[in-house]
Amino acid sequence: MTTSVRVTLAVAAALLVAACGREAPQTSTNSTPAAPPNDPAHQALAGPHGDHTPHHTGLVLMQGDVHYEVVLKKDGRHQIWFSDAVRSDLPASVAAKVTMEIARPNAAVESLTLAIDDNGEAWQAGGRPLEGEGAMVKVRFSLQGEPHEIEIPVVAASLR
Ligand SMILES: [Zn+2]
Repeated sequence: MTTSVRVTLAVAAALLVAACGREAPQTSTNSTPAAPPNDPAHQALAGPHGDHTPHHTGLVLMQGDVHYEVVLKKDGRHQIWFSDAVRSDLPASVAAKVTMEIARPNAAVESLTLAIDDNGEAWQAGGRPLEGEGAMVKVRFSLQGEPHEIEIPVVAASLR
């Protein structure tokens, strides 16, 4: 069971990265960059979709050119952080109607409505403790008026 869940997650991550790659603009060999990167040492990471690393120990996903990082926590205070194409933080208010439905084996589905935290930086849930194995989290949010939905299999080792 654990193995199949991990495989599913790995495939999903690979597909998402591939989707990112297709949407990245083609680099031109004979034109000057419009603007120099702020930090030459990290030039390779400065382009759109050059950085898919977690900034908040979560799972980085994307919708168009907007990235979002889902942080699932053992104490139920799950978070979602939004960032732009180059992973600069976006205010949580870029999204709306952020919810999670957590399906655990042999338990009723837990429905959570997330709220923007005190700093306006992330969406936060006040849910029940989450153990992990066998659980699925369905995340829904609205971005620029468009509803989006994704299902994430929970891996216990990835809980924060
Ligand atoms: Zn991306």
